[in-house]
Amino acid sequence: TASQPAHKRILLKLSGEALMGDDAFGINRATIERIVAEVVEVTHLGVQVAVVIGGGNIFRGVAGGSEGMDRATADYMGMLATVMNALALADAMDKQGVTARVMSAIDIQQVVEPYVRPKALQYLEEGKVVVFAAGTGNPFFTTDTAAALRGAEIGAELVLKATKVDGVYTADPMKDPTATRYARLTFDEAMVRNLGIMDATAFALCRDQKLPIRVFSITRPGALKRVVMGEDEGTLVYA
Ligand code: UDP
Repeated sequence: TASQPAHKRILLKLSGEALMGDDAFGINRATIERIVAEVVEVTHLGVQVAVVIGGGNIFRGVAGGSEGMDRATADYMGMLATVMNALALADAMDKQGVTARVMSAIDIQQVVEPYVRPKALQYLEEGKVVVFAAGTGNPFFTTDTAAALRGAEIGAELVLKATKVDGVYTADPMKDPTATRYARLTFDEAMVRNLGIMDATAFALCRDQKLPIRVFSITRPGALKRVVMGEDEGTLVYA
């Protein structure tokens, strides 16, 4: 195994559910602390880390409590949910000795600073973790698309999509015991086989920009570090 990280700058997409742990809703303290510890570990390796955080543990524009609501209004609520998660993440990072800056795609300046690309780049160069909140700032999009967008904007070498499953499988490993994990596959293969890596908008953006995605499980201890060290963890989707 290599002793140097394989990547200089990464974009980590964390779903809101990743913060939930075994709870049914919201933010689980122990879970967020564990995830943040993994992020802190890779920053100590000298890797620049930006995070896009989801909001599904609090609110989604297309599910649950949003039923019957105007879609755009519900989506703005979903984006605000991501701001709450971002604040919790940044707080947990500060507690573990790493400076984090939250940047929001929606102006909410008494709470967090607005997203300004050069400033985000400066923070990353300074070794601060940047947490991108409020998704793309637009309804009808997802935080997966925000991850692709911000990943491309900041010149991340890799988008890390943290999921519950440790990669992309030939079939659903929960249902089919013969399913096997792809170590790597191209964007075209993923499309032909109709493997839902990210939503279509996010996938298309990464594909166009030749921005590789690695799907992995953040619940596996040490997985983030193994990814950053270039080890065989999860599934790499590349151009
Ligand atoms: N959202 C949005 N535009 C964006 C990103 C998010 O409208 O650019 C809203 C949308 O309603 C979504 C919610 O915010 O359901 C939470 O984001 P997402 O579902 O992507 O969170 P995750 O599934 O990653 O927890």
